[in-house]
Amino acid sequence: MRVGIGYDIHRFGSDAPLILGGVTFPGEPGLIAHSDGDAVMHAIADAALGAAGLGDIGDYFPDTDPKWEDADSSLILTEALRLAAEKRSLYPVNVDVNVVAQRPRLGEKKAIMRGRLAEILSLPAEQVNLKARTAEGLGPVGRGEAVEVQALILMEEGPPENLRTTSGSPGR
Ligand code: MG
Repeated sequence: MRVGIGYDIHRFGSDAPLILGGVTFPGEPGLIAHSDGDAVMHAIADAALGAAGLGDIGDYFPDTDPKWEDADSSLILTEALRLAAEKRSLYPVNVDVNVVAQRPRLGEKKAIMRGRLAEILSLPAEQVNLKARTAEGLGPVGRGEAVEVQALILMEEGPPENLRTTSGSPGR
């Protein structure tokens, strides 16, 4: 078993749509970033790389690389998981995420985000937890200037049962 921690923060102010956990929030200001700014995907990707001892997302997805400009950040998370699987044979067991923001209210979108993350992580939704809270008006996040995300991931060696093929190799 290996554990990894991830953190990300992005400032509001982009004309692009706000995307968190792969879900778009129409009418909300977007986050400034080289990619689509999905801080939830970035924090989980960093946690996975951390668990695998593979550095951080800046090592693989530099913001100077045009390939990742406006990129769908689910691709960043997918790639981080692929690296952990290929290089360390590590697969997610469960993920816990804190989204700290004054806005948007995640509301009913929380369940959709959870489902989308579970799909990417190849986990049942019950093994992907998402918590939303505000910063109580304190600091830049509290002033509504940014979204902050913390993620924790537990990974285990060898493909889990649901990803095993008859040949015994990873099913993805
Ligand atoms: Mg980021």
